[in-house]
Amino acid sequence: MSKLFSHSLSAALSLMILLMSCKQRSLSAESTLQTSLQKLTAGNSRFSHHHPVHPDEDIKRMVAISKEQHPFAAVICCSDSRVPPELLFDQGFGDLFVIRTAGNIIGGVELGSIEYAVEHLGVKLIIVMGHENCGAVKAFIGGGEAPGHIKEIVDSLKNEEEIIQIPVTDINRLDDCVIANVWHGVKELKTASAIIREKVEKKELQIVAARYDLDDFKVTLLKH
Ligand SMILES: [Zn+2]
Repeated sequence: MSKLFSHSLSAALSLMILLMSCKQRSLSAESTLQTSLQKLTAGNSRFSHHHPVHPDEDIKRMVAISKEQHPFAAVICCSDSRVPPELLFDQGFGDLFVIRTAGNIIGGVELGSIEYAVEHLGVKLIIVMGHENCGAVKAFIGGGEAPGHIKEIVDSLKNEEEIIQIPVTDINRLDDCVIANVWHGVKELKTASAIIREKVEKKELQIVAARYDLDDFKVTLLKH
């Protein structure tokens, strides 16, 4: 075998191994994302069928997570008392990194919290979840002057491009605005944070939009 041929063969083999390793890494990242999402949907299915198992609440779990946390997903949702993500996804301690504000508004502090979850805790799945009959969105639709700092929430909704596009006369306006607000949150995560954007582009992070229904207790994943 000539020296040149042997060298080319070795280079080709190295490239092949590198490509295979990249593909394996990407497949493994994808399967992690799928598993995390499946854990959430399975948990909500248990909850909505009134058979929650309340995982990760025993003393063994508490001891295991006392030194460090490795949540498998981050949830951005409303502060509304009827939508606690740990309960409606049937998860326990150390499972979810949760950011809640009235109307699931995403500003600088919320972005920083999510970046922390992604960068330092290794979270690979973010779910932005709105819910039926959201009071914050209702306050925006009701119009008028909101008192105190509530105005900041209403003003934030007022400026969302996705909400502005919804006709004022629309019969489903409240729910349409809830969903538009969720999509705004997804866009905000992808555009306002370089850390999040880069990870999404590399397929190391998945962002999912969702709506929770107060009547049937189900979380529906939203698609454009
Ligand atoms: Zn709400």
